[in-house]
Amino acid sequence: MSVLEVHQFECLSDNYGFLVHDPDSGSTACVDTPDAQPTLSALEEKGWSLTQIWNTHWHPDHTGGNLELQKKTGCEILGPRNESERVPGIEMELGEGSTFDFGAHPVRVFDVPGHTAGHIAYWLPDDSIAFVGDTLFALGCGRLFEGTAEQMWNSLGKLAALPPETVVYCAHEYTQANAQLALSVDPGNGDLVARARKIDEMRAQGIATVPTTVEVELATNPFLRADVPAFQRAIGMEGADPVEVFAETRKRKDSF
Ligand code: ZN
Ligand code: FE
Repeated sequence: MSVLEVHQFECLSDNYGFLVHDPDSGSTACVDTPDAQPTLSALEEKGWSLTQIWNTHWHPDHTGGNLELQKKTGCEILGPRNESERVPGIEMELGEGSTFDFGAHPVRVFDVPGHTAGHIAYWLPDDSIAFVGDTLFALGCGRLFEGTAEQMWNSLGKLAALPPETVVYCAHEYTQANAQLALSVDPGNGDLVARARKIDEMRAQGIATVPTTVEVELATNPFLRADVPAFQRAIGMEGADPVEVFAETRKRKDSF
């Protein structure tokens, strides 16, 4: 079984588009469709034909290109069951526990509500990669538009429980701004301080900070650390319920 190739490209102002290609079956999926045209250009550049769209949630910067791509390529659209009425052209509805094969590569789906009510994430266990949309960001997490802090904490917990080496593809380049908030709440975290410095260097050179890994996020992302005593101490909430610590961290980011 060949290794999957993931091609990442910039879309809109700060979204990433992803093409996932299986050389054995010739299948190509794009994860979300911020914009049809850059996706078509990326397909042409790689010489791949689109067979599937994997939507993570209904927001227009994730589904806006669905219909045009479907019309131009005849691809099949897979997306979240719990908000399917808001996903243009959806044909296969997925939710917690859904599995399908991409060529010979198994794909597993999690419900990760919080940013939107029906948000899903895609995990490819044999390939150690996950596509998490706007749920988990490098050093951040999605805004709570349609869910509670408790839902989001549980959703992030599912991603945090993936093997540490899992490569995590987030949908936006928000890392540098996220790092500022993270440093403000967890200034004594040496791993975070070192990472923030590296992120500044990368962005100064225009290098993408996505993907990341579960291991790196567990060590440095404040939104995954609400149950870690050192982080609770840093934010002045030692011994508090992790949901409350998470909610307070999210609140600080909202007004940062
Ligand atoms: Zn979104
Ligand atoms: Fe988004």
